[in-house]
Amino acid sequence: MLHILRKPWLLLALATTLGTAACSGDGDKVVLFSIEDDIALGDKVAAETDSTYRAKGQLLERNSTNARAYQLLNPIVNRVLDCGQLTHRQDFVWDVKIIKDDATQNAFASPGGHIYVYSGLIKYLDNESQLAGVLGHEIAHADRRHTSQQLQQQYGISLLLSLVLGENPNQLAQIAAGLGQLKFSRDFEREADNYSVIYLNNTPYACDGTAGFFIKAQSAGQQNPPVFLSTHPDPGARIEAINAKAKELGCTGRSPSNNNFDELKRLL
Ligand code: ZN
Repeated sequence: MLHILRKPWLLLALATTLGTAACSGDGDKVVLFSIEDDIALGDKVAAETDSTYRAKGQLLERNSTNARAYQLLNPIVNRVLDCGQLTHRQDFVWDVKIIKDDATQNAFASPGGHIYVYSGLIKYLDNESQLAGVLGHEIAHADRRHTSQQLQQQYGISLLLSLVLGENPNQLAQIAAGLGQLKFSRDFEREADNYSVIYLNNTPYACDGTAGFFIKAQSAGQQNPPVFLSTHPDPGARIEAINAKAKELGCTGRSPSNNNFDELKRLL
């Protein structure tokens, strides 16, 4: 038990949870997990995810070999992060990593702001606004704490807190492995789409960039649909909702340079 006592806030969080349902004050949603729990769980899940893809030789490490790729990706990520609309811009780590797997068109987020994007998705997309849009969608899942709420619902808070304590390594591995396939509620997806438009509104990007992905995926038909589409169904309704929000904000039709995006695609 000694290791638990080194983290008294965990006991407090658990006690609060077991007592009355605690509200973190995150809008009108009840979030039993604290921000600190999001960060701690996210660090564990990300370490597990990193080591899985590192073992397969697929994790693009932030080292001199991949310096140029991250030099091209980071400004895209940072424009979205610095749009002034995130709740946890300062709390979370906001680390976006590339997984080299051209056959997988997917991206996912852990709690606490660790985002993973597959080279297959970057190569699938047509322009920088689309990439910024998809990243914005994933950033919203972390910032709006959808991932931790979904995991909490699926696994229960005591299990998640045990993972934070370093217990249940097998369960941690299972959760990390399933993160890219995690199915969110329609409400969470709608909210993440909506926030991707809100985030991109304060950037040079066309704020309906996420719709660009869905339009492309939809027109490609049912043969080899992108993995991202299987966890993000109903593209027609989503395109409509994204377009409506973009129209409301008046931020469509921008066409920033794709030089950096094109170079990134060629490098991967
Ligand atoms: Zn999503």
